[in-house]
Amino acid sequence: MELTEIFGSNVFNDKVMKERLPKQIYKALRETIANDLPLRPDVADVVANAMKDWALEKGATHYTHWFQPLTGITAEKHDSFISSAPDGGIIVEFSGKQLIQGEPDASSFPSGGLRSTFEARGYTAWDCTSPAILKTDESGNVTLTIPTAFYSYNGEALDKKTPLLRSMKAVSKQALRVLRALGNTTSTKVTATVGPEQEYFLVDKAFYEDRIDLMLAGRTIFGAPAPKGQELEDQYFGAIKDRVSDYMNDLNMELWKMGITSKTQHNEVAPAQYEMAPIFATTNIATDHNQLVMETMQKVALRHGLVCLLHEKPYAGINGSGKHNNWSLSTNDGLNLLEPGHTPSDNVQFLLVVSALIKAVDTHADILRATCAHAGNDHRLGANEAPPAIISIFMGDELTDILEKISKGQKVSAKGVQFVNVGVDTLPEIPKDNTDRNRTSPFAFTGNKFEFRMVGSSQSIAGPNVALNTIAAEAFDEIATRLEKAKDKNAEAAAIIRETYKKHSRVIFNGNNYSEAWPKEAAKRGLPNVTNAVDALKAFVTDKSLKLFEKYEVLSHKEMHSRYEIYVEHYAKQINIEALTAIDMVKKQFIPAVTEYATFLAESIDSFKGIKMPAPVQEDLLKKLVALMASAYKNLGKLEAATAKTQATADTVKKAEMCRDQIVTAMKALRTDVDALEMIVPRDMWPVPTYADLLFKL
Ligand code: ADP
Ligand code: MG
Repeated sequence: MELTEIFGSNVFNDKVMKERLPKQIYKALRETIANDLPLRPDVADVVANAMKDWALEKGATHYTHWFQPLTGITAEKHDSFISSAPDGGIIVEFSGKQLIQGEPDASSFPSGGLRSTFEARGYTAWDCTSPAILKTDESGNVTLTIPTAFYSYNGEALDKKTPLLRSMKAVSKQALRVLRALGNTTSTKVTATVGPEQEYFLVDKAFYEDRIDLMLAGRTIFGAPAPKGQELEDQYFGAIKDRVSDYMNDLNMELWKMGITSKTQHNEVAPAQYEMAPIFATTNIATDHNQLVMETMQKVALRHGLVCLLHEKPYAGINGSGKHNNWSLSTNDGLNLLEPGHTPSDNVQFLLVVSALIKAVDTHADILRATCAHAGNDHRLGANEAPPAIISIFMGDELTDILEKISKGQKVSAKGVQFVNVGVDTLPEIPKDNTDRNRTSPFAFTGNKFEFRMVGSSQSIAGPNVALNTIAAEAFDEIATRLEKAKDKNAEAAAIIRETYKKHSRVIFNGNNYSEAWPKEAAKRGLPNVTNAVDALKAFVTDKSLKLFEKYEVLSHKEMHSRYEIYVEHYAKQINIEALTAIDMVKKQFIPAVTEYATFLAESIDSFKGIKMPAPVQEDLLKKLVALMASAYKNLGKLEAATAKTQATADTVKKAEMCRDQIVTAMKALRTDVDALEMIVPRDMWPVPTYADLLFKL
């Protein structure tokens, strides 16, 4: 089959709808999607029937309302298309009602107190702006998969999609006000677009299954470094090995069938690390697709005897994985608001939008940071690896220079760029190709979009984009209010750009974010630097956040509190699993292995003595082993005690803080001993695959 035929072949997309729906129904559905209108029941019935026929022709037997609970992964409950007929047989049917709303119950998902047990029902509602797809598996099972939002009996959001859709509406509304005030009369909708670059590791399945830390915690809790790491820089963009390339081809095929625009693939910096980037899409579709990407990456890996690791830090000492969330705003008539234009008025608009984001990011750095807070990402943010936990914006020297000059009321005359006259101020043509790439910034302007690089590789991108859309909505709201009142729009626009830069330029940093000097400089500027998830999550429930999300009708106070509760609890659970896994491995695998080697050495010393030979090497090794094992045993005791004490703590936040302060510290101390032991014990006596096995035997 041709690529063009494969792509989207499992999507109930516009082409299929056009072919299969009566003209009037198709038109009504298009309008619903384009203008976010409620779906008419008569339309839903016809659409459902067409969808069912299409799915049955393609071999589907079941449908599912697919949703995104607060666990960060997706959920689905399958129902077959059969209903019983009066004659005792069956009929195959799928009604509009079944398409629009589901009641999966799903009472076991975290609700953070939004559902009490007596009203545990949860509902799903079709998000008709994201197309339904067919999910297939290797044995030929086909399921019609309908993207839905998940909410409680009282209409409170229980998922990641509902606030995302709300935030998209909010940013569209406020951005349009700015455009209107600047004289745009044609655009009727502003869409937040996202292109998430996904990093991941692959590991041989056989090795993976011999490491319960990888299996249960997603990362190696122990592991001495291999003699070689990433220092030769021979992996990044290197030739892709056949086995990996086979995997990538298979992955692409699966993604393309579901209409996911897998575009770029390459080796990443660390050994056995890779990246896939799709072409950007509307935020909610990009989010659905990214969830499918993560799921498909894992599923396809198994077919190749591989396991795909999405954890932020599977291995110590080499790079972890992130997700670069490329974000921009476009109008329905094709204008990218973050793309500098050719005319003076285009550029006023561009600089206003950039100013709005500078203000938004500086004011709500804590919220952006919070959306990237979870146990796995703590190993990256603010730890030994970038991006740091400090939110700053890379604007590039030229753009910064322009903003700087405007803020000082100076004539802008940068680098031979052309002048244009805008009312009272002069603006140059903004350089379009911002080739000046800073790879260390957590929030970088890359010519026509911002790239938010703090997001963890395993995370849903919904949260970060809810935050981006909402903080942008607030900044646009304020700008629009000023512009709407102003007589001289250009003068007011110039004033806004000037004032914003003066007030918020502290968040702009074009230097090396990985340098030791940056955290010090950031502290002087008063920028927050929150190095752990537990503290970072507190930003969910500050007055400032509660007001912000409530004002733009994205999340109510109750919904914010419930999210905070769930994420803090999730952190504590994750750390607890790691601790129990560590304890298990030390007791059942490492101590027995070390004892075996120690006994071997002791016996060797004995037999040397028998023939009156000195055994200084064995004696020295044995001493080291015994000392390290004693230290490990002591640290094991500390970890067990800390874990028990933490589990006995009722308060969720206190519990998470104890995880961070006591358990994580105890695990680190234990790891130091175990890794030192691994360096001494012979390979064939070490009970788990080593870093060399995991990273270099693909
Ligand atoms: P790089 O990070 O090297 O600049 P690209 O320019 O190819 O790589 O873009 C990376 C990601 O950004 C891709 O997923 C791409 O589709 C996405 N992207 C490009 N333009 C936009 C946009 N206007 N809005 C959101 N994402 C975008
Ligand atoms: Mg990039």
